[in-house]
Amino acid sequence: MKITSAAFHISVSALSGLPEESTPEIVFAGRSNVGKSTLLNSLTGLKALAKTSSTPGKTRLINYFLINQEFYFVDLPGYGYAAVGQEQKAAWGHLLSSYIEERQSISLVVLLFDSRHPAMESDRAMINFLEFHERPYGIVLTKFDKLTQKEMAKTRRIMESCAAKAKFIVNYSSFSGKGKSELLAHLDHYIR
Ligand code: GDP
Repeated sequence: MKITSAAFHISVSALSGLPEESTPEIVFAGRSNVGKSTLLNSLTGLKALAKTSSTPGKTRLINYFLINQEFYFVDLPGYGYAAVGQEQKAAWGHLLSSYIEERQSISLVVLLFDSRHPAMESDRAMINFLEFHERPYGIVLTKFDKLTQKEMAKTRRIMESCAAKAKFIVNYSSFSGKGKSELLAHLDHYIR
């Protein structure tokens, strides 16, 4: 797949504000600070598309980007950030789980995991949740440039054992561009 156009479409804070379900959605989810905004920027080539934030957990909205006038990239709020209050955490959790459970137009969920800390408890919970709801998902291991060869092999082994149903596992570095064409090739299968 080649991304020829990418534009911000809408931000929503409640399910009631979501767009019509007639356009396929590729959803990006991950713990706060996993590198999701940087990845979305690197994938689309637009530097300021998804605002990277230095404050983890700041992105609390579901952000829609229209890609190639054809499908959406959906940027979900980061999960697992400890410094927010319990009440707020529960509210986001509810929004995320309802969205994933109910949304008809989701064609794929891309889970982003930090290569250095793969399969943390909240990540495993997300995998279980997606498998339970039979949602197709793929995994992107972010910040792969930070690993040694030995760590790379270990991270891959861990992921392959705990995400048996993943459609793909891609090693990714937004800084070097590693994994970008591989990921785009996978996404291509889910937009029609
Ligand atoms: P988000 O909260 O998931 O949207 O995370 P951000 O995209 O804001 O990134 C969090 C931090 O990780 C920032 O300091 C980024 O510069 C850094 N980061 C993101 N992607 C990479 C990567 O591929 N390699 C390295 N080394 N750092 C990255």
